[in-house]
Amino acid sequence: MPKQARLSRIKLFRSYTINEAAEVSGVSPRTIRNWIEQGLHVMDGERPVLIRGDDLSKFIKKQREGRKVKTASDEFYCVCCKKARKAAEGFADCTIIGNRVKLTAFCEVCETVISKPITEARIPVISRTLALTVKRHEPTL
Ligand SMILES: [Zn+2]
Repeated sequence: MPKQARLSRIKLFRSYTINEAAEVSGVSPRTIRNWIEQGLHVMDGERPVLIRGDDLSKFIKKQREGRKVKTASDEFYCVCCKKARKAAEGFADCTIIGNRVKLTAFCEVCETVISKPITEARIPVISRTLALTVKRHEPTL
């Protein structure tokens, strides 16, 4: 798995050479060059190439967005498979605590526990595709 780029050290109002950009974001200069090919904006007419901190930061954020997996209402994100997965055998536990609702199930592929927060209003919709066992707990104050 590629190293996760860091945002915390990037100064938005600075510009960076490729090596400096690599250093502050914790990736290799080669990765920065790949990002430039993939559309990371560089400052016009500057040699060596200069990258603005805010462009670098925006690019990394956009990449993270792209990596988020969309899940359908009866799907969960499995941290083990790193994919959207359905609940094993279509069963899920639905735990309601106060106004918070959590669905828990087993990944249909690797049987890791998968869960996601939902809103109570979604329960009727989700129960059309999943067999829900609803447990309601009183919130502890
Ligand atoms: Zn899995």
